[in-house]
Amino acid sequence: MDSKVKHYLQHFGISEATQRFLTKPQKMFIGGAWVEASDGASAEVVEPYTEGVLTRIPMATRADLERAVQAARAQFDGGAWRRLKPLERERLLHRLADLIELNAAELAELESIDTGKSVVQAREVDIQGTIDTFRYFAGWASKIHGRTAEPSLPGNYLAYTRKEPVGVVGVIVPWNFPLQTLSWKLGAALACGCTLVVKPAELTSLSALRFAELVQEAGIPDGVVNIVTGRGSVVGEAMSTHPGIDKLSFTGSTPVGCTVGKAAMDQMKRLTLELGGKSPVLVLADADVAAAARAVANGAFFNSGQVCDAGTRAYVHRSIYDQFLRELVDYTRTLKLAPGLDPDCFIGPLVSRQQQERVLDYIEIGRREGAELYYGGQPAEGPGYFVEPTVFVNCRNDMRIVREEIFGPVLVTAPFDDEEQAVALANDSPFGLAAALYSNDLGRVHRLIPLLQAGTVYVNAHSTIDPSMPFGGYKQSGYGKDLGAEQLDYLLETKAVWITLP
Ligand code: NAD
Repeated sequence: MDSKVKHYLQHFGISEATQRFLTKPQKMFIGGAWVEASDGASAEVVEPYTEGVLTRIPMATRADLERAVQAARAQFDGGAWRRLKPLERERLLHRLADLIELNAAELAELESIDTGKSVVQAREVDIQGTIDTFRYFAGWASKIHGRTAEPSLPGNYLAYTRKEPVGVVGVIVPWNFPLQTLSWKLGAALACGCTLVVKPAELTSLSALRFAELVQEAGIPDGVVNIVTGRGSVVGEAMSTHPGIDKLSFTGSTPVGCTVGKAAMDQMKRLTLELGGKSPVLVLADADVAAAARAVANGAFFNSGQVCDAGTRAYVHRSIYDQFLRELVDYTRTLKLAPGLDPDCFIGPLVSRQQQERVLDYIEIGRREGAELYYGGQPAEGPGYFVEPTVFVNCRNDMRIVREEIFGPVLVTAPFDDEEQAVALANDSPFGLAAALYSNDLGRVHRLIPLLQAGTVYVNAHSTIDPSMPFGGYKQSGYGKDLGAEQLDYLLETKAVWITLP
């Protein structure tokens, strides 16, 4: 750990548990063993506020992945895990949730230090969401079953279905909500009886490695969960083509998701793709303008805009557009840009120099395209990969800043004149992850909800996410669902059984 990072951690103070974790050599978790990469390779982990080196993590080889797949296969094809009764799986998942809860403060600190995000938000959103997800799916473990049918075919039959776990699940996740996204994949898969090979994002693997310790402590058998840290182009690519992986559950960008999906289809792997978004927000003329402006700012700038379903395109009725913009900016000024460990931080640094440059490039592209910069647009002064919350006004739907996912704190806005135009603007996008409506007119709200091409529609709020509700996109935002009872369909095979009776 370099001295800039040490000074930062000392300044805000972190728990002894986090200090202990950060000062030990990081290893991967394969088949219940803690291992380095087979060729000894590792990569620096850079802390996004100080830009200093925090620690190093192993960079796995294909041979390491092979061992992880074999460990997961062995457990799935006849290990102790497959023999556990549903209530025993349920108990293990609850024990895991208990351990995450017990270590929540440490996990939140790790998540903040690794990603740059607010430690308060990490505790309240990422880690609480992780605990809730494991608890929700723990309950499902004992409630998965098939049905009996009443065939009309001549003769006597017992016809029933069995729900069987899909097998070894390969999980590939991005860096914006590292542990929470992982919980979305693992909670349901473990409840169904699957085993897993998990690749965290190379930028943010620390919480997954700490989580692996808790998996071991909870008593989940070795080989059921394997955490392989490494590059997408090596480990992720090898997972997409590995015949020992039955299902791939990928969260990340649409271009990488397409590559992963094509490779998976070559082997008929089961597939879930949770991809990018450019979610529209419609603020109707009757909306409570001040409340809508606050919610839209939160929905666009939370987690420094590094949120897949962030509401990044706001279309506002012309009659309230100016007032909305004033309220939006007044509120946005109150959102504090600060290092993630600062308890008052709302907007932390972005995850990496590369991401900061990408977002600043898009702001420049917007200016060149003729979008009017209304607020922000600069990197903040001093160290850290900060970008100010940024608002463009009077944008056109053919601009790149309106069509493409920026994944930073940039909100594009435009006025609309009638509902039909608003819906057309909202749907004019390759993405379809989420949409939001601000209005208190129930009739209009219910009329508009079916017209919006999005996997989730939020009304008078943004990103209200809970494990009981499915999450997943329409169009190029993905394929399949995470969370909710719906996720189980993507992790279970249905076997039809016909027994001819005498
Ligand atoms: P990314 O696609 O670059 O990387 C995601 C993961 O894929 C990482 O673990 C990476 O190592 C791996 N990867 C990279 N190349 C690969 C390859 N060739 N084969 C297999 N794996 C590979 O995405 P990112 O920049 O880490 O994350 C941001 C993106 O994730 C945004 O587009 C965001 O919208 C999306 N996202 C979507 C959701 C959702 O639920 N829909 C949630 C969070 C983030």
